[in-house]
Amino acid sequence: MKAAGRRIVVVGAGMSGLTAAAYLSREGQEVLLIEKNSDVGGLLNSFKRDGYLFDAGPRSLINSGIVRPMIRQLGIDLELLPNVVSVGIEDEVIRITSKDSLKDYERLLKTMYPESIADIDTILSKIKAILKHMAVLYGIDNPNFKDLKNDKQFLVGELLPWFPKFLFSLYKMNRMNEPLEDFLGRLSADQSLMDIIAQHFFKKTPSFFALGYFYVYLDYLYPRNGTGELPRAMKQKILDWGGTIQADARITEVVPSEKTALDAHGRSYRYDRLVWCADLKTLYRCLKTDGLNPKVKANINKQKDLLLSKHGAESVFTLFLGVEEDPETFRSVCSEHFFYTPSRKGLGETHRSDIKKIIDDFPNKTQKEILRWLDAYCELTTYEISIPALRQKSLAPEGKTGLIISFLFEYELMKKIRDAGWYEEFKTEVEDRMVNVLSRSIYPGLKGKVRLRFSSTPISLFNRVGSSEGAIIGWSYETGVPAVSNLRKIASSVKTPVPGVLQAGQWTFSPAGIPTAILTGSFAAHRILKNKS
Ligand SMILES: Cc1cc2nc3c(=O)[nH]c(=O)nc-3n(C[C@H](O)[C@H](O)[C@H](O)COP(=O)(O)OP(=O)(O)OC[C@H]3O[C@@H](n4cnc5c(N)ncnc54)[C@H](O)[C@@H]3O)c2cc1C
Repeated sequence: MKAAGRRIVVVGAGMSGLTAAAYLSREGQEVLLIEKNSDVGGLLNSFKRDGYLFDAGPRSLINSGIVRPMIRQLGIDLELLPNVVSVGIEDEVIRITSKDSLKDYERLLKTMYPESIADIDTILSKIKAILKHMAVLYGIDNPNFKDLKNDKQFLVGELLPWFPKFLFSLYKMNRMNEPLEDFLGRLSADQSLMDIIAQHFFKKTPSFFALGYFYVYLDYLYPRNGTGELPRAMKQKILDWGGTIQADARITEVVPSEKTALDAHGRSYRYDRLVWCADLKTLYRCLKTDGLNPKVKANINKQKDLLLSKHGAESVFTLFLGVEEDPETFRSVCSEHFFYTPSRKGLGETHRSDIKKIIDDFPNKTQKEILRWLDAYCELTTYEISIPALRQKSLAPEGKTGLIISFLFEYELMKKIRDAGWYEEFKTEVEDRMVNVLSRSIYPGLKGKVRLRFSSTPISLFNRVGSSEGAIIGWSYETGVPAVSNLRKIASSVKTPVPGVLQAGQWTFSPAGIPTAILTGSFAAHRILKNKS
C-alpha cells in the first residue's frame, strides 16, 4: 500500500529507528532511514577484534515480552541463546537460574551483613512482592507485537484474562516511583547494604524498576553470534521490504516549514513525515523554526528550553580484554553475565559527594587526588562482566576468553580530564586498576594472562552515537525526566510539538532501554500508518 509519493524519513538507525523503519517498510511505505555512522544498531552493537567477539553496548537483551514477539512478527531468523546471570560479592558468587535463586541472594546478603538480618528480610519481602507484578507486566507477549485480529487464541485465552491484572500491577508500579536510595533508606540504616543493592543502578532509579531487576535477570536473551546480529537482521528486513538506508549521513538541519532535512555533506532530504530516533537535544538544536506559526514556534522553544536544561543518565567505562585462558576456567567462577562487587563495604560517598567535589573543583584538584579517588572507586564499585564465549564457544579463539568489563562512570569527569589533555593516560590508569582489582579478587592471575586490552569511555559513546552526556539509557533520574514515564501513556510519548515530526527511542520514554526503544519505534510507525499527527 505505497501511499503515492509519501516519503517517511527516519533519523537514527539504533533499535528505535530500525523498528520504526521495519514496520513502515513492511507495510509498503516509502522509507528512508538515515544514519550518521557507517553501520546500524546505535548503542546496540558488537564487533570482532583478533578473533574475539565483543558486545559494545548491552551485554544481552531483556525480552520484556517485546524482543521475542517483535522478532517473530517481523519474521526475523535469529537464534536466541540463554543468558544466565550471576551475582558476586567478594568471594561469594550465586547463579540466578530461577525465582528460587532469590533464596541464594538472601543467603548471600545475610552472610555479608549479619548485623542487618532483619532489614534484609524486610527488603526481600518487598522484592518478592514486586516480582509478582513484574511477572504480570512481562508475563505475556506484548499485544502490540501480536496480530490480534487473527490470533483469537491469544486475544481470548491470554490477553483478556491478563488485562485486569496488568492494570492492578501498573497501579502498584506507579506508586513505587520513589528513588531507590530513598526507598531503601526507609528500610535500613546499613549504608553498605543499601549500596550493594543500589550502586549498579543509575542514581535515583525508581524503586519498582530497580528492585524488579531480579525478574529481569531471568529474562535476558543473547543472539547467536553477538548482540549486533539483531540490528543487522533488522537492516536486512528493511532492505528486503524496499526501504532505503543512507549511512554516513549526519543530519544537521531540520526545516519543518519546508519538510526538509539536511545532512553534514549538504545533501537535502524531503519528507512528508519524519521520525526522529536519535539524541533529542540534537533535534532541537538543529531545528529551523522560520516560517512556522508563532504559537507552534513558542511551543517548540518551550520544549527546547526544557530539554536543554536536563541531563542524560550516567555513562559507562568499558574494558575489553582478550585473555590466554580457557572459558571453562571462568565458568568455574561465574556465569556468562556477572555482576561483581569486590568489597562488601559499598561505594558510600565515593560515588556521591566525593565525585561531585572532584568535578565541581576540577582545576584545583591534583592528578594525585583524582587517582586516589579512582583507587577507591575501582575497589568499591560494582562491575558488570560479560563473557561471550561462555554462551557460544566460537566467540573467542580456541582456548582463549574475551571479557567485557564495565562500570558506571561520570561523563563530566571524563570530559574535564580530556579537556585538561590527560585523556589517554587516564584511560590507562582506569584500565590498570580494573585489571588489578579483579586479579586480586575474583580472577586470581588474570593480569598475567591479558594479551589484548583496550577500552571505551563516556566520551567514546558520545562520539559514536551522539548521545547527550554519553548517556546509555536516556534521561537522568537525578535532574528530572522531561519525557513520559507512565506506561499507560507510552503510545502518546512519540508526539512532538514539531509539525510532521514524531520521536522514538531512549529519550522518549523513561525508564528507557532496548524494550522501550523497540516499543516507541513501533508506536511511531503505527501512528504514521494510521495517519495520525
Ligand atoms: C554499555 C551499555 C549497556 C546497556 N545495557 C542495557 C541493558 O542491559 N538493557 C537495556 O534495555 N538497555 C541497555 N542499554 C541501553 C540501550 O542500548 C539503549 O537504550 C538503546 O539501544 C537505545 O536505542 P535508540 O534507538 O533509542 O538510540 P541509539 O542506540 O542511541 O540510536 C541512535 C542512532 O542515531 C544515530 N544518530 C545520532 N545523531 C544523528 C544525526 N544527527 N543524524 C543521523 N543519525 C544520528 C546514532 O549514530 C545512532 O545510531 C545499554 C547501553 C549501553 C551502551
